[in-house]
Amino acid sequence: MRVIGREEVARRLTYEVCIPLVRAAMIAFSEGETLQHLRSIIPLAGGRAFGIMPGAMAASGAPFGAKLISVYPDNFAKGRQSHQGVVVLFEPETGEPVCVAHAGEITAIRTAAASAVATDALARPEASRLGLLGYGEQAATHARAIAKVRRLESIAVWGRSKDRAEAFAARTSAELGLPATAMNEVEPLAADADIICTVTAAREPILKGAWVRPGTHLNLVGSSVAGPVEVDNDLVVRSRFVADSREGVLRQGAEFLRAKEAGLIGDDHIVAEIGQILAGAVPGRTSPDQITAYKSLGHVVQDLASAWALCAEG
Ligand code: NDP
Repeated sequence: MRVIGREEVARRLTYEVCIPLVRAAMIAFSEGETLQHLRSIIPLAGGRAFGIMPGAMAASGAPFGAKLISVYPDNFAKGRQSHQGVVVLFEPETGEPVCVAHAGEITAIRTAAASAVATDALARPEASRLGLLGYGEQAATHARAIAKVRRLESIAVWGRSKDRAEAFAARTSAELGLPATAMNEVEPLAADADIICTVTAAREPILKGAWVRPGTHLNLVGSSVAGPVEVDNDLVVRSRFVADSREGVLRQGAEFLRAKEAGLIGDDHIVAEIGQILAGAVPGRTSPDQITAYKSLGHVVQDLASAWALCAEG
C-alpha cells in the first residue's frame, strides 16, 4: 500500500493542482455524482473531536474511501497541527486499500483551495485587499491560495495576540512579496477588506455584520461543527449565503443555524451550493455591492480527489 507522508503532500499538492481538483469535485458533488455520508463527529474530552468522513468519487475507476481526522484545537499552542489523521483510498475494481495519505496536510491545503474556488466565483473581479481573522495553519494556506485567484495588493491579519499576528504578517509578507499588516481590532480590518477569511477556533462572534462593507466576499471556515460561531446573525442575514454542502450546513453550519434559530432566516437563505454556482446552475454574485458568504464545513470529496491525484500519479 502506498503511504504519502506530510512532506510529499506539501510538495506535490500545489494550489495549481488542488484548486482545479476541488472545483471539479464540488461540481460533481452538487450534481449528485458522488456518494457520501454526512461527517460523523465523536466529541472527545477538552473540546477535542474525532471526525469520520466516508465517500465515493464519481468517475469510473475512481476510488472510494474515508478521512479519519482528529481535531485538537489546543495543539496550536504546542506548535502542532490542529487536524491530524489519514485519508484511506480503496481501489474500486478489487476493493483493495491502495493508499494512505497524510490528512492534516491535505486538510490544510484543500480547505484553502476550496475557499479560493469560492472566492474566484463570488468575489468582485477587482478584489485585492485580503483580511484574515486568525494566524494559524489555515490562515497561512488561505493567504497562499487566495493569492492564486485574485491579484492581491495587501493582506491584513487580526488575532488575539498582537505579537503572533505581527510574526504571521512578517512571514506572509516575505513569502508572498506583499505588504502584510497586523491589526489590533477586527473592525478597521473589515472596513478595508475586499475578501475576509475567518479561520479561527473562536466560539463566539469575532466579526459583525455592521463592520463589513458592501461588496465584500467572506469565506467562513473556522467553525466546522454545530456550536461555535465566528460571525454574528446580522452578517449571515445580510449575505448572499452559499454552502459547500446544503445538507451539511443545515445540520452542522453553526452560524446559519444560530440565525435560523433566532427566526431571522429560513432554509431558503442558502441560495446555492458552491458546485451549483460553479456549474452555472445558479448565479453567483448578482451585484457589486452584495456581501457574499461561502460557508465551508469541508467535504470528503475534496479529500478523496486530493489524495487520489497524489496516489494515482505518484
Ligand atoms: P490552528 O490551530 O492552526 O489556528 C487556530 C487559530 O484560531 C489561531 O489563530 C488561534 O490563535 C485562533 N483562536 C483560537 N481560539 C480563538 C478565539 N477564541 N478567538 C479568536 N481566535 C482564536 O487551526 P487551523 O488554522 O488548522 O484551523 C482554524 C479553524 O478552522 C479551526 O477552528 C478548525 O477547526 C477550522 N477548520 C475548518 C476546516 C473546514 O473545512 N471548514 C478545515 C480545517 C480547519 P490564538 O489561540 O492565539 O488566539
